[in-house]
Amino acid sequence: QVLSFSLRYLDNTHQRQILGIAYDLTRVRQLEKMQKDFVGNVSHELKTPVTSLIGFTETLLDGAMEDPATLTEFLHIMQKDAQRLQKLIQEIIQLSKDGERGFYETQTITLRPLLDQLIQSYQSMIREKEVTFEIQGDPLLEVETTLELFYPIVKNLVENAIQYSPEKRTILISYQKSDELVLSVQDYGIGIDEEDQERIFERFYRVDKARSRHSGGTGLGLSIVRDYTQILGGFVEVHSHLGLGSTFTIHLPIIEENMNL
Ligand code: ADP
Repeated sequence: QVLSFSLRYLDNTHQRQILGIAYDLTRVRQLEKMQKDFVGNVSHELKTPVTSLIGFTETLLDGAMEDPATLTEFLHIMQKDAQRLQKLIQEIIQLSKDGERGFYETQTITLRPLLDQLIQSYQSMIREKEVTFEIQGDPLLEVETTLELFYPIVKNLVENAIQYSPEKRTILISYQKSDELVLSVQDYGIGIDEEDQERIFERFYRVDKARSRHSGGTGLGLSIVRDYTQILGGFVEVHSHLGLGSTFTIHLPIIEENMNL
């Protein structure tokens, strides 16, 4: 924040005036700290899979690969580590996107086929967990939005709903458009207690670190959801009860076609 000020004082008989500018460095310092924390967290998160990859490679090269069963088992672990690294890198790149909605191109999309396609991409996880999806909303509803921001928002919410649901549960996606677009993803999963609800949108925050890591989570998904809904001019909210489930709702302003941003 920049503050300008003016000071008047008497110098012998003359009245003098000083004009000046003062910079409030609090925000700058805060941003510097956030940046440092982020880099620290990223390094820490990258270290775990890399250390594991090096360890397993060395053990294999030291002779463990002579045994075909060990070789297969280790390769599966290494594949998981590499996938974790890939996800982390993709999400860090996504988080580096910034700015205002006006910087991004918008297009008209029909929501329902997009959701169907998104759910389809999680088919193997869905089959494994035997979860069922229900979608409520006008099948022909069109929205004017930026796909590169909108898609990751919904993708992260859907992925979490599957991830944090026990087997054989239903996940409900509902949407409607009036003076804003409201889309919610509701699950009957493990739920989040009130204290954690305030923190889950922070970068790298995970309620259960071990569980999230084990299932390939990075703790970045919801911060992408929050950042991107904000870039789109909207917001995200969560309602959740521990043990009963969670509902994440995004509210996005409607953009008229050909509106000059
Ligand atoms: P992660 O990659 O760990 O899923 P997110 O940023 O997407 O990271 O979510 C942060 C944390 O919020 C998760 O680790 C989990 O503890 C909690 N969380 C997110 N979505 C849900 C949900 N639908 N049900 C229960 N807990 C959730």
